[in-house]
Amino acid sequence: MTTTRFAPSPTGRLHVGNIRTALHNWLWARKRGGRFLLRLDDTDSERSKEEYVEAIRADLAWLGLDIDGEERQSARFDRYEAAFEQLRAAGRIYPAFETAQELELKRKILLGRGKPPIYDRAALDLTKQQIADFEAEGRTPHWRFKLDHDAPIEWDDLIRGPQHFDPALLSDPVIRREDGSWLYMLPSAVDDADMAVTHVVRGEDHVTNTGLQIQMFDAMGVSPPAFAHEALLVGSEGKLSKRLGSLGVEAFREQGIEPMAVVSLLARIGTSDPVEPFADPAPLIESFDFARFGRAPARFDSEELAALNAKIVHQLDFEGVADRLPDGMGAEGWDVIRPNLATVAEAADWWHVVEGPVETIDFDEETAAFLDEAAAIAGDLDWSDAAWMNLTGALKEQTGRKGKALFLPLRQALTGRDHGPEMAALLPLIGKDRAIARLQRAG
Ligand code: GLU
Repeated sequence: MTTTRFAPSPTGRLHVGNIRTALHNWLWARKRGGRFLLRLDDTDSERSKEEYVEAIRADLAWLGLDIDGEERQSARFDRYEAAFEQLRAAGRIYPAFETAQELELKRKILLGRGKPPIYDRAALDLTKQQIADFEAEGRTPHWRFKLDHDAPIEWDDLIRGPQHFDPALLSDPVIRREDGSWLYMLPSAVDDADMAVTHVVRGEDHVTNTGLQIQMFDAMGVSPPAFAHEALLVGSEGKLSKRLGSLGVEAFREQGIEPMAVVSLLARIGTSDPVEPFADPAPLIESFDFARFGRAPARFDSEELAALNAKIVHQLDFEGVADRLPDGMGAEGWDVIRPNLATVAEAADWWHVVEGPVETIDFDEETAAFLDEAAAIAGDLDWSDAAWMNLTGALKEQTGRKGKALFLPLRQALTGRDHGPEMAALLPLIGKDRAIARLQRAG
């Protein structure tokens, strides 16, 4: 069974880049009828906060990305310990005692000689006596995973294609700190193995980690999952700006952006499929395919999101939005007003135009006289059907006005605005009494 996971650290809110990764994992799981897991990478007890855990859950729920299970790394330390012991016994983990300063110095020397700053494995040459001396001094080691230099690292990335790394050109990664706390690398591989994750979908900033983790999977005797590393998300200005880094569900909600607008955009940018407004994720699930992802960064544009949002709002059914509409606004009102909205929240503004009072406009004398006539005709009109057509038809005949001179003052007097929903649909909502009163007042 296909299993994907989204693995955020609950040290902050999700931003649009994280959301995109979560979405792709979800789409793939749903396409394959598989499972989508939320894995909270909360080994860092200091920086991980319960409020962020809750915010992450709430954000996924708002986006409609339902999860099939939740795991927390903080509940799995026993497992990491066991894997650590297994790999240590197999000679794949070794202690190292260099201080951060010593490591930095080694790095600088190598770089100064024009060499790649690969860890020199000096810790592997320590004698038992040297180790005992360090320990007697009260120094505790950090721990490195020993890469197998004879096993070339290869995988066929679902987005990037065939990947190849020479392990001799990589540093043995530090997997555990002096204080016993875990770095990201080993726990993640242990989890992916234990949770039977079949596809790891994440940003291309993790490509090197994948190379290292593939050797960890091998060392643990499990076959690695498939990997898809997606190109990173950048802003319309061409980089992952600060602004994008803090743009998340909270901001989207404030801007009146619908979850499906976010989903529609993030599912398709960076792919060869067109961005289209979908009010339901089914077509996005259907068309999701790693083969459609490009290698160039995906560009996120807030204006594109806003435009997509408007198109999605225009597709939303009354039932789906009823609880967000002003009191008294029914299905008929929604259908009339919907095509004019950029956000659902704007419906309240238009509903206000229906219910009044509307803004008063100063008309010139001639127009005021025309509106007086309109008020009189409106009083005699059959309001049960095609009121707008009947009103404008009668006025046209009586006054000789046509086009803009006929329609605009009526719209202005009836709504207080120059633009808006189709008057033919809006007028019945305004209703006879209010319409006559508004025309009279303008006249
Ligand atoms: N917690 C890691 C991150 O947010 C997870 C990466 C992964 O998907 O393995 O970068």
